[in-house]
Amino acid sequence: MRYVSTRGTAPHLPFDEAMLTGLARDGGLYVPETIPTLGADQIAAMEGLPYEEVAAQVMQPFLGESFTPDELRGAIERAYAGFSHPARAPLVQLAPRHHLLELFHGPTLAFKDFAMQLIGQLFQIALARTGRRITIVGATSGDTGSAAIEAFRGLPNVEVFILYPHGRVSEVQRRQMTTPVESNVHALAIDGHFDDAQARLKDLFNDHAFRDEVGLAGVNSINWGRVLAQVVYYFTAAVSLGAPHRPVAFSVPTGNFGDILAGTVARRMGLPVARLIVATNQNDILHRALTTGEYRTTKVAPSISPSMDIQVSSNFERALFWAYGGDAAAVAQLMDELRSDGGFTISQGALQALREAYASGRASEDETLATIRDTFAATGELLCPHSAVGVKVAAEHLAPGLPMVTLATAHPAKFPDAVEKATGIRPPLPPHMADLMARPERITRVENDAEALKSLVRSRRSE
Ligand SMILES: *Cc1c(COP(=O)(O)O)cnc(C)c1O
Repeated sequence: MRYVSTRGTAPHLPFDEAMLTGLARDGGLYVPETIPTLGADQIAAMEGLPYEEVAAQVMQPFLGESFTPDELRGAIERAYAGFSHPARAPLVQLAPRHHLLELFHGPTLAFKDFAMQLIGQLFQIALARTGRRITIVGATSGDTGSAAIEAFRGLPNVEVFILYPHGRVSEVQRRQMTTPVESNVHALAIDGHFDDAQARLKDLFNDHAFRDEVGLAGVNSINWGRVLAQVVYYFTAAVSLGAPHRPVAFSVPTGNFGDILAGTVARRMGLPVARLIVATNQNDILHRALTTGEYRTTKVAPSISPSMDIQVSSNFERALFWAYGGDAAAVAQLMDELRSDGGFTISQGALQALREAYASGRASEDETLATIRDTFAATGELLCPHSAVGVKVAAEHLAPGLPMVTLATAHPAKFPDAVEKATGIRPPLPPHMADLMARPERITRVENDAEALKSLVRSRRSE
């Protein structure tokens, strides 16, 4: 199993190297050369299995020789041992055909833990083999950063730098990043939006000399290892609702397109996913692109669902690559246009392929608050604002005989202000974080400038 870049000119890599690298050297994203499929019998036999067992079955075919089945199995067991729910990703019902997939029972209360805890384990195995020392630099709209810090804090041979947009993450999100005491953890508040943080991160990766000097590794959702870990819960959810005998639809609160891309992979592996719905907040570039064929960036409008306040949706590049039939030159050209003109037009053929793969919808701020309020009144479930965006858009796509699953991407206690505004109830943090608001913070401010960032990384690394 080899991995190729969506822009066609980076070296082909095995799974472990693609995972350690993150972004390809030509600026593209790694995708598997082919997507393995699972037979209907094998999918049916997943019914009732522990999450960890399904994870091993779904992921192993993508790993080639990179990790043995025993190594993978051990990594999966350790990754999910700290989750607070035995099902790991439990389903709860909201309405007769509508289910919520709770992905927030990991240590930092967002779905990012599913992938980050696992790649933390896989990184450790790979680094122990080579004795390599790496520098992880990540950009976050809030939840990736805390999940990455939780997964890599205190590890030897790893320095973790997390860039988050100053003043644009929730207080709980910020404190999860700024309160860990381990000296290998560096939370950096950048002046700008998430897109600025992500652009500076890409600048670092595209400086090959710097990249090699510090052993740069990426854990953003552009990392294929993360996408792969997220494929698993599409299988567990769909199988418990009757797949492969019954198709299932998913509504996915979307920002950087990582989570919904994992659903795309599940479908291509043979899971009967009837609909994949891109649910966006008021930053609706993806909904507009799928509706009009024009991918045009505008200014980010900060919202109550900050983890989706994104205009440049990195993983969409992988969806484009598949929609263009694997034409890496065409993708590279679109990405050049995005950089020079702030947008591009999707070809008719590719747009048709994307519309066959995805439906879409958006929720305004008022609609998001109303959904939190109405869902609580009807079911007693408290939704985080991101999950509420998914529930609102899912409700527009309910169809007879088709179970709908909305991904609940974060715990409501991570966004208590929005939840309280909608319902009057302030959801408490779980016991393991009860003192979060009292812990001392460590924050470094950094300019929105690649050179400033490089020198900061260099000096912190050598301390
Ligand atoms: C990251 C995140 C999203 C968006 O997921 P993508 O994979 O970036 O599309 C949605 N909700 C929450 C709570 C998140 O942390």
